[in-house]
Amino acid sequence: MAKVIAEMLVESVKMELPDVKTVRFQWPEGYDPGEFKTGQFITVYWPHKTKYKRAYSLSSSGLDRGFYEVTVKRDGKMGTSVVDWVEAGDKMFVIPPTGRFLPVFDPPGKHLICVAGGSGVTPFRGFAREATARNLDTRITILYTVRTTQDIIFAEEFRELEAKNPRFKFHVTCTRLAPEDPWTGRRGRVTPEWVKSFVDDPANTVFYACGTNAMVEAVEHLVIHDLALPKEQMKTEKWG
Ligand SMILES: Cc1cc2nc3c(=O)[nH]c(=O)nc-3n(C[C@H](O)[C@H](O)[C@H](O)COP(=O)(O)OP(=O)(O)OC[C@H]3O[C@@H](n4cnc5c(N)ncnc54)[C@H](O)[C@@H]3O)c2cc1C
Repeated sequence: MAKVIAEMLVESVKMELPDVKTVRFQWPEGYDPGEFKTGQFITVYWPHKTKYKRAYSLSSSGLDRGFYEVTVKRDGKMGTSVVDWVEAGDKMFVIPPTGRFLPVFDPPGKHLICVAGGSGVTPFRGFAREATARNLDTRITILYTVRTTQDIIFAEEFRELEAKNPRFKFHVTCTRLAPEDPWTGRRGRVTPEWVKSFVDDPANTVFYACGTNAMVEAVEHLVIHDLALPKEQMKTEKWG
């Protein structure tokens, strides 16, 4: 069945951070999204600005039915309009999920190392939710770079998922904390050494990087040049 563009009601919104909002779009009556998967993105637009369309990764998972969730940072025209204006009861058009940034759950036993910067962590919530809900033996390690501890999206949910799922780990590094900040976690940029310290079975590791082009390209370079792994073991989602 052909995938249909649908006007969807905003069922609810949640401010994750002062500049980051999760929007839940309710599927309309009789809506059939066709097959879609965790890690894909939807494209949304306002009814009064039909030419201005933007992609957002699903932060919900492919197991979630009846709604889509996306998590948007206040940035640029669409990002700002969503964070500042979208509220429950609004309607936006939604182009169904597409994309190839998919978690490798099959064959089992893979280790997914997911590197994210800022809002680039959004699809990885779906990865962790699905693996935990299905009790998969896939290991997922998120390596998350943010400026300060105030910028960590989904901190609480990722800690809860870690408590439920011993194969899921969430590691944060902060790049711009004041020296006197009490944070005891890692500081500084993502380095090859840091990433390498999580790789114990290179042949069964799949790398993911999501966020700005610069961040994603740096991780690609690290995997393909520094770790000398084949391109097939690296999946990227570049947001520009
Ligand atoms: C597959 C995919 C998935 C995505 N998923 C997400 C997601 O889950 N969450 C999310 O928040 N975003 C996501 N994005 C990004 C999103 O699609 C938008 O690009 C983002 O919200 C910015 O909105 P915009 O494109 O309207 O910004 P634009 O107004 O087109 O601006 C684009 C960029 O240029 C910068 N800019 C604009 N004007 C200026 C200026 N005068 N000087 C300097 N810089 C300027 C903006 O800050 C912004 O970073 C995704 C993108 C892709 C391709």
